[in-house]
Amino acid sequence: MRSAIALFFLFSTFLSVVLSESDYYKILGVDRNADEKEIKRAYRELSKKFHPDKNPGDEEAQNKYMDITNAYDVLMDSEKRSVYDRYGEDGIKGGAGNGGGQGRGGGGGFRHGGGDPFSSFFGFNQGPPRAQDVSSEIQVDLADFFNGKDIDFNISLRDNCDKCKGTGSSDGLKHPCDSCGGRGRVIQRFNMGNGMIQKIETTCPKCQGSGQVIKNKCKTCRGEGAYDQIKNFNLHVNPGTPRNHIEKFHGKGPTQPGIIAGDLNIILKESPNSNLGYRRSGNNLYRTEVLSLKEALFGDWERKIRFFDEYNPTITIKRNKFQSVSDGEIEVIKGKGMPILNGNDEYGNLYIEYVVIFPVANKKLLQSLHDEL
Ligand SMILES: [Zn+2]
Ligand SMILES: [Zn+2]
Repeated sequence: MRSAIALFFLFSTFLSVVLSESDYYKILGVDRNADEKEIKRAYRELSKKFHPDKNPGDEEAQNKYMDITNAYDVLMDSEKRSVYDRYGEDGIKGGAGNGGGQGRGGGGGFRHGGGDPFSSFFGFNQGPPRAQDVSSEIQVDLADFFNGKDIDFNISLRDNCDKCKGTGSSDGLKHPCDSCGGRGRVIQRFNMGNGMIQKIETTCPKCQGSGQVIKNKCKTCRGEGAYDQIKNFNLHVNPGTPRNHIEKFHGKGPTQPGIIAGDLNIILKESPNSNLGYRRSGNNLYRTEVLSLKEALFGDWERKIRFFDEYNPTITIKRNKFQSVSDGEIEVIKGKGMPILNGNDEYGNLYIEYVVIFPVANKKLLQSLHDEL
């Protein structure tokens, strides 16, 4: 009975998706794959245009403004968005025909953070569970954080088997379990002695309670209905993206039949091996340059240091004759830090710390210094 109710809810949810759906993507005029930035941009433009302050007395504009705000709230929340992608507006509002205690107002059926990853979004805890979000790391060179880069990567994720359409059965058939006669439960008898027999009903171990078994298992997924598949993804690193930035792929996490995929989160780690001696802190870059005592005292040197900028791959530092540098001195080169992520072509600064190497008991040098002084 309970499962019949669940089916009904699911069915009516899907039905209403088809019949009376506001398309949040259409409302904001963005693609279904739009990322947060695109959604933000679209929202900013539309909300400016339809803001009630700008359209006094215009009811249509006010309704439109509410629609825009509502669509934005849902699409910017990854959990809400993935439910919306699958179940439409009714999924967001706490389930079709939700007769439970949750209101139909602002997404009453939602769970935020923590707790059981498979708890349901619908009333009565029915409807398919949602898998947990998964995270994976990608190493990005500091130069790519600087210049920006398109990154193509493959990742192995569990997904429904196309071959058997997730049934696990090569002929699409399931057969009643002969252990339990399709009931899903079996009665075990225990001899208690003295002629007493105790009967205990348990879940059928052969069909795990489903009452059905697959005789001809799909060879691709070995009857599981899902298997680990290599998936290809692409992401773009914008110049100036902070390290540990998380790129979210909505609803692209692992899944299997009967489970809604969570999100795939890709964390952009900074690769430790290709920083050309620069250290990044926010929008600024830092490096250490070692000077000999002679260079530090007497100047007259020039160095070209490799830099990330594809169009300007070297930075020149120099001192004229007798222009001395003290140990620990910091030179600030403005605008040679990381790009600032505001699209205004602005950059942080580069801080160079000079370290002077004092030679140990170099008689010749000491003598020459002595003469100099
Ligand atoms: Zn069985
Ligand atoms: Zn299969």
